[in-house]
Amino acid sequence: MNTYVWIKKCKKQSICKHCGKPIVKGSYLVMCQMYRESKKEDNGGKKNWWFFRRFHPQCWIDQGIAAVSKIPVVETRGRKRVPMTDGTKSARFKIMQRRASIMQRLKKATAEVPYDIDKIIHLGTMIDELKAEIIEQGGLPKSWE
Ligand SMILES: [Zn+2]
Repeated sequence: MNTYVWIKKCKKQSICKHCGKPIVKGSYLVMCQMYRESKKEDNGGKKNWWFFRRFHPQCWIDQGIAAVSKIPVVETRGRKRVPMTDGTKSARFKIMQRRASIMQRLKKATAEVPYDIDKIIHLGTMIDELKAEIIEQGGLPKSWE
């Protein structure tokens, strides 16, 4: 499945796929086209089906961040709690500081219109990576869940 995403001005009031509220005519919306190309042998590689989804820009970012920050569930039951060493504590502290600065940048990026979608996705991915790192260093902090 392929996806095309672009921002356009709303010409006709429509409904946001994420929050279900109307997107007002004249405001900006994120248009998301999903399609699947059929195999060349079938009909010369023509798109055989597609559909559109419309989002408020903020809603598109919200659902995008939610999607990239989903991480595999780590099984912790039955595992002994090992006291943290000073090395682990300082590694965790560094990861938390890095996350705080990325969160700042993300906050700034989502406050600027037009949105720099690539930047927002990039920052979301970085947060995701830090999550994986801190899990390695003794587990996910409560506030990160
Ligand atoms: Zn919405």
